[in-house]
Amino acid sequence: MTTLTQTDIGPEYLDREEEDLLAGIAARKQELADRLLVLCHHYQQEAVYRFADMTGDSLKLARHAAATRNRAWIVFCGVHFMAEAADILTTDDQIVMLPDLRAGCPMADMATSDEVGWAWQELAAAGIDRLLPVTYVNSSALIKAFVGEHGGSVCTSSNAERVLTWGLERSDRVFFFPDEHLGRNSAHALGIADEQVAVWQRGEVLGGNTAEQLRKTKVLLWDGYCTVHMQFTAGHVAHWRQTDPEVKIIVHPECRHEVVRAADFYGSTEGIIKRVTESPAGSKWAIGTEINLVNRLALQHPNKEIHSLSPFQCLCSTMYRIKPGYLLWVLDNLAAGRIVNRITVEPRTAQLARIALDRMLAI
Ligand code: SF4
Repeated sequence: MTTLTQTDIGPEYLDREEEDLLAGIAARKQELADRLLVLCHHYQQEAVYRFADMTGDSLKLARHAAATRNRAWIVFCGVHFMAEAADILTTDDQIVMLPDLRAGCPMADMATSDEVGWAWQELAAAGIDRLLPVTYVNSSALIKAFVGEHGGSVCTSSNAERVLTWGLERSDRVFFFPDEHLGRNSAHALGIADEQVAVWQRGEVLGGNTAEQLRKTKVLLWDGYCTVHMQFTAGHVAHWRQTDPEVKIIVHPECRHEVVRAADFYGSTEGIIKRVTESPAGSKWAIGTEINLVNRLALQHPNKEIHSLSPFQCLCSTMYRIKPGYLLWVLDNLAAGRIVNRITVEPRTAQLARIALDRMLAI
């Protein structure tokens, strides 16, 4: 598990007025400007997001950190696997910090390297070979390293179909971690038949499949999921269709297949932002992704009607742990010459994970 113990930062940061915290962050950012890089994921809350030097999805941010070599201190306002990816791609002189160590990703934590290693061995023992691993970037460094070591590649939500195709050209089947839904949606988009897609259920013998079923499988899906995107349902899509037929529905491919199938469009966070931004004034949207991104799009486009697909607040609660008090605590420590909450990936793991990332970049 990537959930680490977070130091108690104390009432000075937890009980202070938000206005005061924001003023403190602004002052520290100015003071540390020549060494500091603050990165914020699209799902970050507004009070933190406003201090970003760069915003984006996890890979874009990690690559930006690597390209900004003159900034030694990288404060990653995202979740743990994102900070790990930044550490893997940056130089040894750059230090990556995560303001609250409890900001993990439940989906990434659903595939541990032990579980994946055991499943791999079980498949080999059952004679299911010619198998290539592919992992979504939303996974731990250890899973990326496993994939790198076994000839596979990382993928993102925007290139998963391309990476799956690459894998299937090289092998009889792909083992896809950790998001069942991104894997299934990508397999469907490639026209792979339902009977050639199977799910590996943790804790079951052969993942709940027979050896015969697995031999027919082209895409074997780990049974992980995003706790945020799983909250959107086909019923929500039906509701909007009935409420206002002019509303276009766009969802993230971490949503269940029936939601993606019922929507008008699906795409990565960057893809959703692009499509909504480029739509004409007066467009109406119901968006199936994290609420901070949906609210921000609504604020940025007052000439469009933008709603969350769900009537409930679909919030990434672990990302939400990165609150202004934690960001200020990290910056105050840096100003005092102390590094806190550093995220480091052990060199051998980083080297193998880098191989899997580089394979993706070459595909
Ligand atoms: S939105 Fe989902 S996949 Fe992304 S960090 Fe949160 S739990 Fe993980």
